[in-house]
Amino acid sequence: MGKEMSSIRRGCTILAVAALGAAACTPSQQAVSGASGPQMLMSNGWIDVTATLDPATTPVYEGDAPMKFDFLKDMRKGDALTLSAYSMGAHSGTHIDAPMHFVLGGASIERVPLEPLIGSARVIEIPDGVQAIDAAELNRHEWKGAQRVLFRTRSSLRGWMSSSTFHRDFAYVAPDAAQLLADAGVQLVGVDYISAEQFGAPAPMTHRILLGKGIPIVEGLSLAGVSGGDYDLIVLPIKVGGHEGAPARAILRRRMQ
Ligand SMILES: [Zn+2]
Repeated sequence: MGKEMSSIRRGCTILAVAALGAAACTPSQQAVSGASGPQMLMSNGWIDVTATLDPATTPVYEGDAPMKFDFLKDMRKGDALTLSAYSMGAHSGTHIDAPMHFVLGGASIERVPLEPLIGSARVIEIPDGVQAIDAAELNRHEWKGAQRVLFRTRSSLRGWMSSSTFHRDFAYVAPDAAQLLADAGVQLVGVDYISAEQFGAPAPMTHRILLGKGIPIVEGLSLAGVSGGDYDLIVLPIKVGGHEGAPARAILRRRMQ
């Protein structure tokens, strides 16, 4: 548990449970972390489900631009200030794909409306053994009526969003499931690894189906500490002009029924 976490804990009692940990805490701020699991911050019931961007722990999709974070100046080394430069792909860590990613003439990231990015969302737990979230798998779960659907898969269970090793066998949304979600009017689809598409898919059909209907895709969520059910979601991408994707901060809060 790092120094940063200790300062946030503020007298909370942390009870470690399995790899994730659970916190018994009355104040509004708490932090939960496991030895190898992602750090999860909470405030007033909001849970941070963003993967931390860090070249040492962030997976980079095969063939994508490498991540490089540098200190141009560093007060710890005697400089008058600390100043950093970041270099990374637009689809690094937790991020949003805008229609422009796979639709010619589609909206760029700063033009994605706020409406799909803020509101009720259902987290669906996909078992570790499932790699293809196809229509049959989707229909094993209660997804109908959900405005936004987030899949918690083997990637969260295995801590893959906090491991720099790229895994090809991540769970993905198959095109027939994407079509069901799009036809049902779902406003946003989220996954917990850096792509919603099957690795090596012959064509990016899942992206085309969702983005073609103007449905943004959140990729790279960190859902390890989140169980299935209904939440409020806020996920806001960095406002970059004229490009097809950007890193985002994502938070969830359990819905009171
Ligand atoms: Zn992406």
